[in-house]
Amino acid sequence: MNDVAVFLFYGCLNDFLPKEDRNQAIPYSFRGAPGIKDPIETLGIPHSEVGGIEVNTQSVDFNYQLQAHDQVKVFPLDSNTAAPRFIVDVNLGKLARYLRLLGFDTAWRNDLQDAEIARISVEQERIILTRDRRLLFRREISLGYWIRSVIPDQQVPEVLDRLDCWQDIRPFRRCAVCNGLIQAVEKEAILDKLEPLTRKYYKEFYRCSDCGQIYWKGSHYEKLTKKIAKFRNLA
Ligand SMILES: [Zn+2]
Repeated sequence: MNDVAVFLFYGCLNDFLPKEDRNQAIPYSFRGAPGIKDPIETLGIPHSEVGGIEVNTQSVDFNYQLQAHDQVKVFPLDSNTAAPRFIVDVNLGKLARYLRLLGFDTAWRNDLQDAEIARISVEQERIILTRDRRLLFRREISLGYWIRSVIPDQQVPEVLDRLDCWQDIRPFRRCAVCNGLIQAVEKEAILDKLEPLTRKYYKEFYRCSDCGQIYWKGSHYEKLTKKIAKFRNLA
């Protein structure tokens, strides 16, 4: 005889369910006493997007073993902690640059394999941002968010909304190229690296402490400032 428990998923976890199951009590048939992660993932929800579980109104963790007639409520990750740190999947380079531009500590390389992304996420406690939901089912990871939008300009507000981190924006703090921290630098120290016109018209300079990229408040800066303002208006 199979036993039956009932699952109800909250908020954005419903995105993983077929339409007819969203915001509905879902009966789940099972044998024995499986760890609660199994049914959750069998129903299509990556465990890494789960922020909390209640069984019969008691809060439980992934060690809980499912019992007959359990009423299970599953809540999404809510990240109301310090500024989140990210690792962004290889094909989301534009999102990674935007997040760096907004000051978020964002690891990204275009040549990382899934296993490396997972390892970095675990070791450095970075939230994986990906369009590939299979990546989020990997056993070893615990922090992940599946990006719903395919448009970079919409992915940024999506991430900031879902992880509730609009208040953590710190523009021009990080290098968009490498994620290093940007610091003010004396013009004299970098004269030889400047084009003649830049040298002539600009006084204030900044340099990435990791890759050495030099920044100044030229036309590119104005464009980026407008971009940041546009994102901020979406908060
Ligand atoms: Zn850099």
